[in-house]
Amino acid sequence: MNFSMAVEISYLVASVLFVVGLKRLQSPATARGGNQLAALAMLIAIVATLLDNQIIDWTAILIGMFTGTFIGFWAAKKVQMTQMPELVGIFNGFGGAASALVAGAELLRLQSLNIDSTQGEGLSIVISCLIGTVTFSGSFVAFGKLKGIVSGNPITFPLQKTLNAILFIGLLFLGGSIMGMYTFADLPTLTTFFIFTIAALSLGILLVLPIGGADMPVVISLLNSYSGLAASAAGFVIGSNVLIISGALVGASGLILTLIMCKAMNRSLSNVAFGAFGGESTGSPQGNDDSDKIARSVDPEGAAMILAYAQSVVIVPGYGLAVAQAQHELRKVVDNLEERGVDVKYAIHPVAGRMPGHMNVLLAEADVPYDKLFDLDEINDDFSRTDVVLVVGANDVVNPEAHNPQSVIAGMPILDVDKAKSVIIMKRSLSTGFAGIDNPLFYMDHTSMLFGDAKDSMNDLVREVREA
Ligand code: NDP
Repeated sequence: MNFSMAVEISYLVASVLFVVGLKRLQSPATARGGNQLAALAMLIAIVATLLDNQIIDWTAILIGMFTGTFIGFWAAKKVQMTQMPELVGIFNGFGGAASALVAGAELLRLQSLNIDSTQGEGLSIVISCLIGTVTFSGSFVAFGKLKGIVSGNPITFPLQKTLNAILFIGLLFLGGSIMGMYTFADLPTLTTFFIFTIAALSLGILLVLPIGGADMPVVISLLNSYSGLAASAAGFVIGSNVLIISGALVGASGLILTLIMCKAMNRSLSNVAFGAFGGESTGSPQGNDDSDKIARSVDPEGAAMILAYAQSVVIVPGYGLAVAQAQHELRKVVDNLEERGVDVKYAIHPVAGRMPGHMNVLLAEADVPYDKLFDLDEINDDFSRTDVVLVVGANDVVNPEAHNPQSVIAGMPILDVDKAKSVIIMKRSLSTGFAGIDNPLFYMDHTSMLFGDAKDSMNDLVREVREA
């Protein structure tokens, strides 16, 4: 077997491992292994590429690999789960930039050899640079919005969509020139490419600015899909099968994730992209409630009594559980309840938290068995037969306003916890969740609010349930 065949086989192995790794991400039980498999595949692909092209020597490869491993390891350890969309946003941005740079480098190479880029490669260069650059600048605006560096409110101005359309048409025109179909203002190809890149950077910024901060996780997932498409196009540019395959996998899975999120919020993709949703909050924080609605509060002792004497309890975790990092304390409360013979289940809404699967990962950290976790479709009919629902830092995903056609969350599938005999809600105040709207559940007769940080309240509950 000669060297180039060994490289091709390595690529094939890496591609298969990517697919198997992705498949294993389907279940929380196998997800960790799937991730490791995909990481191994990436290592094989990188080493094979570097050796194949003899780009640099072993020392440089090892230095690069150790530096990359260190940064990746450090980032993954340091970043909180609630900041995961930001991290993914940055990674997408760099992925897009890498694809655009590959395209630029290939154009430079062709130019230095005096080869014009009218063939198929020219198209791949243009597509890779366009999508990669839009992904880069768009991802950094999305990151800024999530971090609060850029205003989370939709930033709009007159004729914005017209400007975007003009930019896009201009990009198509410049792209044709880069491909050698005609010359633009007698400019050299590299200058046209430079203008093209600046225009694509601007388009990325302009496309994300008008989208509200509330929709950033969806946007980041969409940009993730774009970064895959850009990588795939870069694969065509340099004739790399493994890049084409892995890029296509990222592109498809990112798009599927985006659609899952849209469906779980009952929003269309175009509504997310152009709807300027999630601007101003309409909620009324505790103490400032100027309406005549009254929320009944309960202390940890009272809540423990309600829970301990129930036969069936369903836990609904939400973003606040992740913020408070109260999953381990929650597990202790549940252990105590189960010891008393209470039947406990967990209801997981597809967009509870800040990304799909967020709650599954959080509960897995506390070793909650997977068979106790139920999806919205599986558990919604059970609420009417449930004694107590304990909502921990969740808000929008249990908001009955979703059944009101006038509401901004109208039609969003929700966990119908209001059907249970009694509901205990753990949060710090009556303030709103992600969607910025008030929640009538807080004021219902059978609801009790257990105010406080979820971790503190949960610690109190552990003690009180034991003593109940
Ligand atoms: P929400 O954002 O609706 O509500 C979370 C609640 O947690 C807040 O109302 C807050 O109330 C409370 N909270 C925050 N910190 C703490 C704390 N330390 N202790 C106790 N409570 C706390 O979260 P949900 O999970 O219900 O809903 C997720 C939202 O995110 C949905 O609107 C969804 O559409 C959106 N979204 C989710 C995506 C996903 O993929 N998961 C993607 C895109 C959007 P208070 O301040 O009073 O404590």
